[in-house]
Amino acid sequence: MNEVHTDPIWVQLAYLVAAVLFIIALKSMSSPRTARSGVLIGATGALLATVVLFFSGIELLNLGLILGFLAVGSIIGWVAARRVKMTAMPQLVALFNGVGGGAAALIAVVEYFEVGSSDLLLLIFTVATVIVGSIAFSGSIVTFLKLQELMTTRPVIIPLGKWVTILVAVGTVAAGIGLVVQPQDWLLVLLLVLSLIFGVLFVLPVGGADVPIVISLLNALTGLAVAASGYVLDNVLLLIAGTLVGASGTLLTNLMAKAMGRPLTSTLFGAFSGTTAGSTSAGSDRPVRSASPNDVAIMLGFASKVILVPGYGLAVAQAQSTLRELADLLTEKGIEVDYAIHPVAGRMPGHMNVLLAEANVPYEQLKEMDEINPEFSSTDVVLVVGANDVVNPAARTDKSAPIYGMPILNVDQAQQVVFLKRSMRPGFAGIENEILYDPKTTLLFGDAKDSLTKVVAALKTV
Ligand code: NDP
Repeated sequence: MNEVHTDPIWVQLAYLVAAVLFIIALKSMSSPRTARSGVLIGATGALLATVVLFFSGIELLNLGLILGFLAVGSIIGWVAARRVKMTAMPQLVALFNGVGGGAAALIAVVEYFEVGSSDLLLLIFTVATVIVGSIAFSGSIVTFLKLQELMTTRPVIIPLGKWVTILVAVGTVAAGIGLVVQPQDWLLVLLLVLSLIFGVLFVLPVGGADVPIVISLLNALTGLAVAASGYVLDNVLLLIAGTLVGASGTLLTNLMAKAMGRPLTSTLFGAFSGTTAGSTSAGSDRPVRSASPNDVAIMLGFASKVILVPGYGLAVAQAQSTLRELADLLTEKGIEVDYAIHPVAGRMPGHMNVLLAEANVPYEQLKEMDEINPEFSSTDVVLVVGANDVVNPAARTDKSAPIYGMPILNVDQAQQVVFLKRSMRPGFAGIENEILYDPKTTLLFGDAKDSLTKVVAALKTV
């Protein structure tokens, strides 16, 4: 595919349309109202680009193989995306992202043999694509294993990890330079192996709560690899699409790191220096106050102001509609109700917004953290539904906690706090939450949907 090929004007126009569709898609995805159409617009752009390629006049070798793999890939992607639970979305993104990075690296390996040493810039881009694509691939696989809990979600610290990682990084760069200066097959194999190892070493020390940030970063890296392969293949659309992914991934990574209240460097390198250590606990033996759905209904029924705090557990229980039913019932009774949305509640940015939009919760009732935090002190009852880390005051006080520094929802300032959860198990960050033991806290144990259904039924009789 490497001989010089200039796309006919109509193909270039079609690529331009696809690029515009990608940009509109990204813009649309920034709001839950338009996100669904954004996804469709983006998919249309991708479909257009793929179909156009077949008619562009480019010489396609192994057409049967290409079509066969396209079919297999489409079926796997379709089934995986349809079947995935919303709570497992970050894992799926990690896996798809890894495949993208791996594909870019493989294309670069093939191209490497075609480029030759005459075009230095092209050679540099090809080698860079091998490195970045391989890192994105192996790093994404490790993040997938962590999020799927197929391996520990805690930081994995290997002896002398920092130095081993630095050594592998230096080796990777050296092999890359070597390949540019003096192309040799064995160096290419070494580069691939070192880059893959670096991807693994890069992600292993990252702790559970930080893994989604790393996915976003790897996503940005895949974007860069794809953009570089666009240069290598002389394909403007790949260049644009890769740059878009790289830029939006970088912005998202920064936003997430900011929402978690710490610089990206401490997320990535914290474990090397021991700063992400923290106590894991599956709950201590201290007494807590638990109540029945009836008790909770009475507390809510006699409140004049209630704030609902949704978290990851709401998504697990798929209790969003039941929560809205409860909110509607309280509103009908003349009680002021708001939803407090923490930027990293759940497992992906905007998770709660999407979930509640699914249940047709009016947007006006969703209050962002900065807006709602001053309200807690004048609130009678806060109902925390499957949230934990995002309300954990350890983020303010415990310097050894992995969430230290993350701005939280100040639910501890309310008159009464009710937690709906199944057990005393901690949240994603794996640390105890002191509010659970506070005398003003009541726990309603059980699956959130089940508990909410019972509270709603009881509230109807209050
Ligand atoms: P957490 O993971 O802290 O807590 C979830 C709680 O839900 C747990 O206490 C669990 O307790 C409970 N739960 C789980 N399933 C159910 C169920 N079926 N019914 C009732 N309760 C249930 O969630 P948060 O939303 O508070 O915090 C999100 C975490 O993810 C933070 O650590 C954040 O930093 C991290 N994160 C999020 C990102 C994002 O973009 N959203 C990005 C990066 C990190 P139990 O098992 O006892 O039921």
